[in-house]
Amino acid sequence: MRLDDEQRDAADFLAVVLAVIVLACLAVCSSCNCQGPSMRTPNGYPIRQCSQPTYSVADGVPADLVERAFRFWDDFRPLSPTLAGDPLSATVHVVLVSAETSSTVLVYDTSGCITRAEVRIARRHLADPERLERIMIHEAGHVLGLDHVAGTGLPMSAWQ
Ligand SMILES: [Zn+2]
Repeated sequence: MRLDDEQRDAADFLAVVLAVIVLACLAVCSSCNCQGPSMRTPNGYPIRQCSQPTYSVADGVPADLVERAFRFWDDFRPLSPTLAGDPLSATVHVVLVSAETSSTVLVYDTSGCITRAEVRIARRHLADPERLERIMIHEAGHVLGLDHVAGTGLPMSAWQ
């Protein structure tokens, strides 16, 4: 009999612990505004930006081209990046690198939202403004969370 009581106590204790864990999870989840990858553009593309990003442009990168590239993805409003008043506060940085290819590095939080991005424009691409614009549009798509698509000639085709 005594053992049964102890088992019942243990079961009650476990039930309380589980309830606390579930409530804590619910509190954490409901405090997160991030709708994460479940958000989609009208065209059905996943959005992985969960709050308004701001960007900075390093010296030497044409700022007007960067602006046009972000505006290209109109479906993403109001989550498409805007120019940061203070470059240090920007969550997206567009920089020049001495590399063969341009690329974008993304940082995600645990809910799948992009919290930081660095667009690395290859210095050699500055010599070809038309190609640079295509590349910047492509990288801006990555900043918003878009992946590559199959086929060629599209903004998110792997090769630009
Ligand atoms: Zn790419």
